[in-house]
Amino acid sequence: MIQLIRGFKDILPGEVELWQHIEKTARGLFENFGFREIRPPILEYTELFARSIGQDTDIVEKEMYTFSDRKEELITLRPEATASVVRSYIQHKLYAKDPVRKFYTIGPMFRRERPQKGRYRQFYQINAEVFGSESPLVDAHLIFLLVTLFSRLSVPDTEAHINSLGCPICRPKFKEALVDYLSSATGTLCSDCLRRRERNPLRVLDCKVPSCREVMAGAPSLADFLCPECSSHFSMVKESLERLQIPFVIDKRLVRGLDYYTRTTFEIQTTFLGAQNAVAGGGRYDGLVKALGGPDIPAAGFAIGIDRLAEISGLNKNDFEANPDIFVAAMGEESTKKAFEWSCALGREGIRTEMDFSGKSLKGLMKRADKLGAARVLIVGEKEMQDGSVILRNMATKEQTSIPMARVVQAIQELFKKD
Ligand code: AMP
Repeated sequence: MIQLIRGFKDILPGEVELWQHIEKTARGLFENFGFREIRPPILEYTELFARSIGQDTDIVEKEMYTFSDRKEELITLRPEATASVVRSYIQHKLYAKDPVRKFYTIGPMFRRERPQKGRYRQFYQINAEVFGSESPLVDAHLIFLLVTLFSRLSVPDTEAHINSLGCPICRPKFKEALVDYLSSATGTLCSDCLRRRERNPLRVLDCKVPSCREVMAGAPSLADFLCPECSSHFSMVKESLERLQIPFVIDKRLVRGLDYYTRTTFEIQTTFLGAQNAVAGGGRYDGLVKALGGPDIPAAGFAIGIDRLAEISGLNKNDFEANPDIFVAAMGEESTKKAFEWSCALGREGIRTEMDFSGKSLKGLMKRADKLGAARVLIVGEKEMQDGSVILRNMATKEQTSIPMARVVQAIQELFKKD
């Protein structure tokens, strides 16, 4: 039997209802605040990700699903959505009428990471991006949206972690100090960090290997290197979060694995997920629109991992049971034909209807209705048809009423309107 590819998964009925609820709640919240949906494609030219995420990041170095299409052009299954949204914003000049635009997008991402609990090779994200404003209030607002969404989805024990990565003016000075520190520090760095030290030293900060953590304990802190503008931007983010009564932790190690971030970065973490503890992450990426060939327009955004969110949401499958409102139980050829017509008409009128076509006995049909948790059963037998009426049974009260054949759909509709 052919199995799933390692690191991939099916989202099955029973689970998918929670996903739909998460997506619906997110859409509702974003649309309240003027975000519009955008749907970029899943495949893009590899160069888009190499240039935006950064050549020396784990994602671009070793995690992308890249292949050449028939024209030998390198294309990649998107590992994240921001680059595509930015490309789209530039390509369609979405800034022309008003540079301030807010978008959200929902869909699958692909990274060839080592599979483990909470980490998949195809996973799903909800992204939100705000273009055209440099204001720290945008950063605070994005964190507010995350916290609000998680509370609507009954996610327990979340914590907002924030940091500032500075800007192209102040970050190089910090990088220099960090490289100096790393070359003189005693202790051993893991092989990844030895490489990062040369190519992307900021990433050493968030390495989880204990020996690297020990080395980094005495490392310089970015906070001490922020220029006055970055420093006041960060203060304003903190002050706004306080005003909104959103608790946060300043996390000096939060550098995130993508090169395009400037100033604020943030993550929503939870104690529930073990090692893969981030449910959402994001930050400001003021230079990215320009770097990808657009005008100099600042932006900020975040990505939520739906897979992880579904795992920790306090809501569960039973909250979304979709039992039929009505189960149509027909016996005999003529009754089945008529009942089929009614079942289609009921479904068309928005009543959740189920019918069994297998020609079971009444006993078998009632058993099935029970198993499906149907609220009511419409019993359509040859005898009832001859009498010109059918029976409606309330499965909870066991009460049975007779409905004239001419009024079946109408009578049931009226009943559900009353409920
Ligand atoms: P990132 O795009 O790396 O900033 O990640 C944003 C969010 O996406 C994370 O906080 C996770 O919730 C989720 N995520 C990232 N990578 C994976 C993965 N391999 N499997 C499942 N969720 C992921």
